[in-house]
Order: sequence, then C-alpha cells, then structure tokens
Amino acid sequence: MLNVEAVRDDFPVLEQEVFGRPLVYLDSAATMQMPKPVLDAVVRHYTHDNANVHRGIHALSERSTRALEDARERARAFINAESADEVVFTSGTTGSLNMLADMWAQTMRPGTAIVVTMMEHHANFVPWQQACARKGCAFCAAPLDANGDIDLAAFEELLEGHDVSLVSVAHVSNVLGTVNPVRAIAALAHAHGAAVVVDAAQSVRHERVDVRAIDCDFLAFSGHKMGAPTGIGVLYGKRAMLERLRPVRFGGEMVEDVRVGKTTFEELPLRFEAGTPNYVGAIGLAAAIDYLEQMGRDNVRAYEHELLAYAEQRLGEIDGLQVLGNPQHRAGCLSFTVEGAHPFDIATLADKLGIALRSGNQCAQPLLYEAYDVQSITRMSPAFYNTMGEIDRAVDVLEYVLKLLHR
Ligand code: PMP
Repeated sequence: MLNVEAVRDDFPVLEQEVFGRPLVYLDSAATMQMPKPVLDAVVRHYTHDNANVHRGIHALSERSTRALEDARERARAFINAESADEVVFTSGTTGSLNMLADMWAQTMRPGTAIVVTMMEHHANFVPWQQACARKGCAFCAAPLDANGDIDLAAFEELLEGHDVSLVSVAHVSNVLGTVNPVRAIAALAHAHGAAVVVDAAQSVRHERVDVRAIDCDFLAFSGHKMGAPTGIGVLYGKRAMLERLRPVRFGGEMVEDVRVGKTTFEELPLRFEAGTPNYVGAIGLAAAIDYLEQMGRDNVRAYEHELLAYAEQRLGEIDGLQVLGNPQHRAGCLSFTVEGAHPFDIATLADKLGIALRSGNQCAQPLLYEAYDVQSITRMSPAFYNTMGEIDRAVDVLEYVLKLLHR
C-alpha cells in the first residue's frame, strides 16, 4: 500500500497555490514531478563529483564515469535488458526514436514497409513516415477499433499484405490511455519477419516494462515521465540488432580510431552516444528508478489504476462529457470532450482555479483528426502523488467551469 500523504512530502512542488488556490497537478503524462531524492542526487553530483565522463583519469572524472555506468546498470535492471551494453542514453523518447529511424533507414530496401498505429505520438509517427518517404517504402498506420484498441485483425492484414521490416507501437497511448498488448503484437510482427519497437514513454512509470518478456527488439523511454530530469532517455536495443546498425551521429566518445582515410567506432553502447552524454540526467534517472522501486512498482501501478478508474467514474457523471475511447485496459491518462465547450477554454479556466490539465491535440493529430474527427481534447493524467480528494476537486471545478462556458 502506498501512503500518499508521505509520498507528497517528497514532492515540494505540489505544495503551492496557483492563483490563490491549492495546486492540483493532473498533467503527469506530459511530465512527472521530481521527488526530493532525485533533486538531491542531481545537486549532490554537481556539488561534489562533477566532471566530464570517460575523458579523464582524475578522481572527479572517474567518479562521474562510474556514476554514469552505474546508472546504465540501474536502467538495464529496470527494463530487464540482458546487458547494460544494450542501454543507450539519449535525450529522451523523441531522441531515441529519431536516431533509431535514421539508423534503420540505412537498412531499408525500397518497396518494403513500416507499420505504426493510428494512436502514435508524433515522435513515433513522423520519424518513420519521413524515413519511408526518403527510402521509397510504404508507411502504414494500423487502424483502431471503436473502443480505441488496436484492430489486431487489420494489423495482421497489414503484415500479410506488405513486406514489413519494422513495426513501432506505443505501449500506452498518451491520449486514450490504451494499454496495448505489446507482447502479442511483437509475436505477430516477428512471425512476419518484422522487427519490433515499443514506445514506452507513457508506460514506463506505471506498467511493468520488461523488454525480455515483451520480446521487443527496441524500446524507447524518457526520464522526465518517471520522475527523472528532462533531457535524459533510453534507447534499448537487443545486442544483435544494435550491432547491425551503423551510427548516424558522430563525434567524441563514439569513435575508436580516427584517421583522414577512415574512422572505426567504439563498442556498444558508446558508439551510439556521440559527444558528452547527459550524465547528470542519467544519475537522476537512476535515482528516479530507485525511488519507484522503493515505492514498489506494483503499488504505484495499483494506486494509479485506482485513481484513473475513479477519475473516469467521476467524469462520467458530468453531463455532455464524452471520454475518448473505452479500451480494454487503460493507464496513465484519459481525454475528453464536452459538447459546446472548447478544451482550451476548459483548461484555461480550470487553471485559474488551481487545476492543471492539458488541452490540445497532444501530439497525436492522426488519432484526433483522422481516427476520432475531433480537433482538440482535454486530458487528465494523475500520478501516484495525487489523491482521490484532488480528483473530486478537479471534477467540482470542471462542473463549475462548464456551467460558466455553457451560460
Ligand atoms: N511517445 C509518447 C507516447 C509520449 O507520450 C511522448 C511524450 N508526450 C513522447 C513519445 C515523446 O517524449 P519526449 O517528449 O520526452 O521525447
């Protein structure tokens, strides 16, 4: 069991008023707040141990390097990768997926295809679409069913109808909250000879993300969605897969031997980490992993599911409010529209009453515009530091705001 009041003591940012009202932060799918142990780890490193990594033999550089490599090992264990060599530090999910798409593009043959789904975040959509355009490949987006789950029959048809080199799919949707059956999707894709990428940006905090259980070839996530600083993320790749790819970013640290005539590259994972890595971000990520594990990942998951189910129930009581999708499993967030009220107005007015929601297209325009034919939604995304009382407050405020807007 999670003691929310004790948890909240770890998040000083939550203890404030905005516009004279207590802050209710319900935008954790965009970024999660950082707990004190993570803030402390970052300050501690800058205060005592800061030096560039890998480059020096002096004491501080060695400490920094050791901390970075410890963080890599913590990240490995967190996603259950076989080896820390399979963990590449990046700037985040977007950085991971763009680098991977650029590397994969070098292996793509014209006439082959890449399959994503209609619920992808632009970060897991546009890089693949652009790679396909450059390489003369087909780019397909698997449709969703009426509930907002991936239509697996249609997905399989795409695999059968094309020579698919790679499938890339979100573990959890950042709009619908749909938890996708990534294990089954990976098995299906592998049976058709396609590699599998999982965008775990939204799942990494509250679902079990186990790359060996999923049997994905690649997986990407961002630290800031799980209590780590911004600007750090991971690209996981199975060793055999990473070894087949050529780096697309070049510079210090990733090379072994550089001559005018030829350059050879470092071993995994350094060959994919050109330049000074965000080692303090990685140290923060390790602290965030420790924090979540100390909290008990299953406790976090169970409580966040409770919060979201309660939010869905309470929002359902509001007249004219329509929650987008009704997936088999939902996690992390839910989005809604209200007849006659623009999401921007809802979120702006709610903010003035202390409630932090998000409105817009959530970087998922194909989902909104093409699958749901809506222009914009309001999203609520609680995390384990939120209380049921805060959900009630948010719902009360929404009812009040909607009254004003409908006047
Ligand atoms: N994919 C999903 C599903 C997301 O929710 C996000 C962040 N909203 C991203 C990718 C991109 O993550 P980042 O901005 O941290 O690179």
